[in-house]
Amino acid sequence: MSDESTLPQFAAIVVAAGKGLRAGGELPKQFRRFRGKPLIRHSVEVLAAAGAEPIVAVLADDTRDMAEEALSGIGGIEFVGGGATRQESVANGLEALAATSPQTVLIHDAARPDLPSEVIRRLLGALQTHPGAIPALPVVDSLALAGDGEMMAGKADREALRRVQTPQAFRYANILAAHRAWNGEKTAGDDAQVLTEHGGSIALIHGDERLKKITFAEDFMTAHSAPFRVGQGFDVHRLVEGEELWLCGVQIPHDKGLSGHSDADVALHAITDAVLGAIGDGDIGTHFPPSDPQWAGARSAQFLEHAVKLAAEAGFALGNIDLTLICEAPKIGPHRPAMRAAVGAMTGLEENAISIKATTTERLGFTGRGEGIAAQAIISLYASA
Ligand code: MG
Repeated sequence: MSDESTLPQFAAIVVAAGKGLRAGGELPKQFRRFRGKPLIRHSVEVLAAAGAEPIVAVLADDTRDMAEEALSGIGGIEFVGGGATRQESVANGLEALAATSPQTVLIHDAARPDLPSEVIRRLLGALQTHPGAIPALPVVDSLALAGDGEMMAGKADREALRRVQTPQAFRYANILAAHRAWNGEKTAGDDAQVLTEHGGSIALIHGDERLKKITFAEDFMTAHSAPFRVGQGFDVHRLVEGEELWLCGVQIPHDKGLSGHSDADVALHAITDAVLGAIGDGDIGTHFPPSDPQWAGARSAQFLEHAVKLAAEAGFALGNIDLTLICEAPKIGPHRPAMRAAVGAMTGLEENAISIKATTTERLGFTGRGEGIAAQAIISLYASA
């Protein structure tokens, strides 16, 4: 923005004292990486660029080091300890500004990383005529009242309702007085409520869908990494007499079978490697080393089931499988329905998401001479956490 200097002087309080347990993971969510930097840094950078001075970051006591690292290089930041509730944390932030006594203050949640500068401009503009202003959006879905047993007990009129976001903007003296006067036995939903109960009026300015609050692990997964992954796998086993032939967990009558340490199910090995590849977690040999006697003659279904479980732990579910078997014989077509059903049972996929194709190599090469069977698989995963 070229005309940021025209914004009136304002301070900002960024509330980051929550432990963020709902988002999972080891770090409190405000310090977890989101699109390449700590979550809290996104909105603090925008506030700093818009001219907020000072910016008070309200933190749980044991996260000061993390916060200093997360916000390193941004000037004008003061760190303040949080309280037992969000409301107490905001009150601490407001008291920390008492010496500066700014004209206006924006109070923002660190969990809303995308803060359009137009919203800051609209909020500060509204403060010229009101002691408080908050971003709000209309409700577009219809609303139901939930009764006992999650039964619909009625409907609510959405026309008069708004979804409230942060930052919330206030004339500093008004919000400080309102917080100081608040009845300590009650908990306020937000700072706008604190001001209105103290007699202040709040202007609703148009919010922004980008101000979405990051709450659940799913938000992190879909927003900070690709929501889709792909993986490919390739495998070959030798055809020999006197072995059973297993493909996709189905035993197929044939004059030869595949040899290998496990049941040598070349198709499941290719699919398993594709799943492991998509989550960047090694290959089938890493997880089930042929040198380990416990896998001698093992059913390969357990390899695929294990890979699907690892993918789930990494936050991904299988989207589809596309498998190609490369051999002159046996004919795959007659066994395809049983193979799809078996792979569906191992993966939880619907059969229309499991493609099993077969091709020959025109009698060329080792597959053409019937010396072995090759398989290649491509799979997709989608974020599911
Ligand atoms: Mg293999």
